[in-house]
Amino acid sequence: ERKQKTYLVTGGAGFIGSNYILYMFRKYGQEIRIINVDKLTYAGNLENLRAVEKQENYSFVHADICDAEAINKVFEENDIDRVVHFAAESHVDRSIKNPDVFVKTNVLGTLVMLNAAKAAWEIGDNVYKEGKKFLHVSTDEVYGSLGDEGFFYETTPYDPHSPYSASKASSDMLVKSYMDTYKFPANITNTSNNYGPYQFPEKLIPLIINNALQGKKLPVYGDGKNVRDWLYVEDHAKGIDMVQEKGKLFETYNIGGHNEKQNIEIIHIILDTLREMLPDNDPRKANVSESLITYVEDRKGHDRRYAIAPDKIIKEIGWYPETKFEDGIKLTIKWFFENEDWMNRITSGDYQKYYEEMYKH
Ligand code: NAD
Repeated sequence: ERKQKTYLVTGGAGFIGSNYILYMFRKYGQEIRIINVDKLTYAGNLENLRAVEKQENYSFVHADICDAEAINKVFEENDIDRVVHFAAESHVDRSIKNPDVFVKTNVLGTLVMLNAAKAAWEIGDNVYKEGKKFLHVSTDEVYGSLGDEGFFYETTPYDPHSPYSASKASSDMLVKSYMDTYKFPANITNTSNNYGPYQFPEKLIPLIINNALQGKKLPVYGDGKNVRDWLYVEDHAKGIDMVQEKGKLFETYNIGGHNEKQNIEIIHIILDTLREMLPDNDPRKANVSESLITYVEDRKGHDRRYAIAPDKIIKEIGWYPETKFEDGIKLTIKWFFENEDWMNRITSGDYQKYYEEMYKH
């Protein structure tokens, strides 16, 4: 009998992590086992994993990645083959208000993960057990801001501007240093803005969908012309898996959607798509209106444009962004329609109750 490959996923109760776990079980079924380590901050929601939570090849460990003892224990009790490290504080606006927790989780937490994996996997000086791999999930924001022209490549120098991107840049550099110094078997991926099911409604796309349906203001920073490259979250999940299985160790891969849009364009697309998708007799249809668009004071240090050139991952690995934005946004809106309760519980903070019910101890 072949051994199930064992994954340690950090931050698996968050937006991308939960999509990744669901994707991996759809793809590999019983071939893999996943241990999800998550602190369950405001952004973590075990409800996202309801479809898999009873599977014997899935387990949840409630722990902070900064807690070395708890993380070492996971490595001691399990023969981990793959680490996929998502856990982070992820919202730029929160980082501007409270940078400390970003440095703690994103930098020190990553250090704990690296040390734990290194201790568990190293069998001689800079020699590791066969086939063990660590993937560090990062962002294109580490590269700074672009003008109207040009793209981010893996070779683009780091130039972070927000406490969030600075903390992610630091964590990337730590991973790089472990690869360079200890030959630690890892990859780094830097990905553009994700959207899709289970995204916390503080981020642009779910915020706009939710507010538009309720007839609430649609806040737009500055002139609304900041450009982001948007990637459907399932395409990202697939890219992570492909990098880990087919990528060259020690390499960085940029994962991008080839889909640049101004924030204001995104808002117009969402309003148009909502009108197209809502039946005429749905009372929410009357709420959906351009008049809700409200320009607000720009985010401090707001980067103008991010755009990734995913040439390397396309050429070396054969990944490409499969989901066209028109389709991805429809899938996302459809998901929000079908999961209104999820959104209501999130926005009322009720999902914490679910957790306490599920994991009384
Ligand atoms: P998220 O905020 O939705 O989820 C983060 C998860 O990490 C949550 O479940 C949270 O409970 C958990 N977590 C936070 N601090 C923790 C700690 N100290 N210990 C254990 N768990 C902790 O974030 P996301 O949008 O899913 O992003 C996941 C990763 O992908 C992050 O590393 C982020 O930097 C990166 N990323 C995100 C995007 C994007 O568009 N969302 C783009 C590129 C890269």
